[in-house]
Amino acid sequence: MNSTAGNLGFRSAHSRSRQDALPSKLHDGSRIAVIGAGPAGSMFSHFLLNMAETVALDVSVDIFEPRKFCHRGPAGCNHCGGIVSESLVQRLATEGIMLPDDVVQRGIESYTLHMDVGDVEIATPLAEKRIAAIYRGNGPRNSEPTDTHSFDGYLLHLAQEKGANVVESLVTDVRRDDASMRVHCADQHSDSYDLVVVATGVNSRLEQTLADQTQEFEQPGRTKTFICEFHLGRKVIRETFGPSMHVFLLDIPRLEFAALIPKGDYVTLCLLGDDIDEELMDRFFGSPEVQKCFPGGEIPRHVCHCYPRINIKAARPAFGDRMVMIGDSGTTRLFKDGIGAAYRTAKAAAKTAIFHGISAKDFETHYAPMCNGINKDNQVGKLVFGFGGLVQKARFARRGVLRMTVHEQEQPGSSRRMSGVLWDLFSGSAPYTDVFLRTLHPAYIGSLLWNLVAGNMPGSSARNGRTSEEEVDHVRH
Ligand SMILES: Cc1cc2nc3c(=O)[nH]c(=O)nc-3n(C[C@H](O)[C@H](O)[C@H](O)COP(=O)(O)OP(=O)(O)OC[C@H]3O[C@@H](n4cnc5c(N)ncnc54)[C@H](O)[C@@H]3O)c2cc1C
Repeated sequence: MNSTAGNLGFRSAHSRSRQDALPSKLHDGSRIAVIGAGPAGSMFSHFLLNMAETVALDVSVDIFEPRKFCHRGPAGCNHCGGIVSESLVQRLATEGIMLPDDVVQRGIESYTLHMDVGDVEIATPLAEKRIAAIYRGNGPRNSEPTDTHSFDGYLLHLAQEKGANVVESLVTDVRRDDASMRVHCADQHSDSYDLVVVATGVNSRLEQTLADQTQEFEQPGRTKTFICEFHLGRKVIRETFGPSMHVFLLDIPRLEFAALIPKGDYVTLCLLGDDIDEELMDRFFGSPEVQKCFPGGEIPRHVCHCYPRINIKAARPAFGDRMVMIGDSGTTRLFKDGIGAAYRTAKAAAKTAIFHGISAKDFETHYAPMCNGINKDNQVGKLVFGFGGLVQKARFARRGVLRMTVHEQEQPGSSRRMSGVLWDLFSGSAPYTDVFLRTLHPAYIGSLLWNLVAGNMPGSSARNGRTSEEEVDHVRH
């Protein structure tokens, strides 16, 4: 093999090399390798084949994916909370991707925020919009095979319908040789392609292998999270959790986000933060706010669990000559809406490859600006999470947030500024920059200041530390 290890094509778009002699556009007969059939890989394949059809370009796509999404438990699953925000459900629908009923495990209609100073249920801002809770695989270990259908399996099926071919192999290396990009698999299979799309997410060794070949590529930053599934049965879930996702604002260092998400017979728990470990989990499970969510105040044994990694820093660069990183392998939104970012990066990369070209310069001009937009928004996201951390630490601030939200929820038609901010933060429906700008509005600041004072006055329900069940009951219709 005449490979040029150390030069995977992650060079500056402005520096010229002999590889420029190779075709930098897709043509009839071009072959594309997509490594990974998570949402990014499958959506890329679907969009690319769709666009190729519209411009009468005859290309072929091989999707490499060793995982079988029909399996239950971790073997068939891409490990995530499975929340698809209402804005993404609608955007996918405009692309002709309608989530079938057997893929959507539950429509989430509200968030219930739990804090030590009380709880509040936040209804969906627009009554007709619902968040979808899905399973990435075919449900938890030992679940009933008929009850769940995989979201990732559904997207892969759409790509196959468009003509993509699935190769059930694990890719171990990608090398550039004089004529093409060569993809090597664990089963010794190897093949040449005109374009390689890396969509392996951050729970794979492949990007480390690429980073080992060249100093020009920095793989994405990642941190450990925790997910588990509780089997409670539909009836208990309906009575205790309702169609609500339960989120927690607790004074636990390193915990950025914790949620209980009802799905069919199960409830999924997700813990996101800075390297989730046993100590943090013990504190979480030991807190009364979490325990009281479960029947009898007792946390049952989980039936399935995993410690997946999440992307917290973009790959640099997320493209090279005839190579592009999409979804978590490239860039994603910090802690939220990873599936939405997979959709956006997949579409932008497919558009670039079909309508502009596949050189580093093409990706730098037409793909990188979208990734940079996500990365900049994540910087604002860090600021927003920083403020959230202050609220997490300061009890008086939690009282003010609780009071403001409860009052907004009690008054239909009021401008629900705090509720909207919290909703978009929990669901990932809006960019962090939008959320941040809304918190600078004088009406938001004025109302928050007033509620901080009123919520901490002697005699206020938040001040007395009463769980605001009366208020929550009042808000529940
Ligand atoms: C705890 C947790 C909760 C989350 N909750 C949500 C949520 O509720 N909503 C949301 O939108 N996002 C959520 N995310 C983020 C979301 O999971 C990711 O952003 C999303 O899965 C990225 O999609 P992807 O296609 O880029 O990568 P993945 O979904 O990771 O898919 C990568 C695919 O590549 C395959 N693969 C890997 N290596 C190889 C290889 N060498 N050869 C061939 N195939 C390979 C894998 O088998 C896999 O199928 C969560 C993440 C975590 C960790």
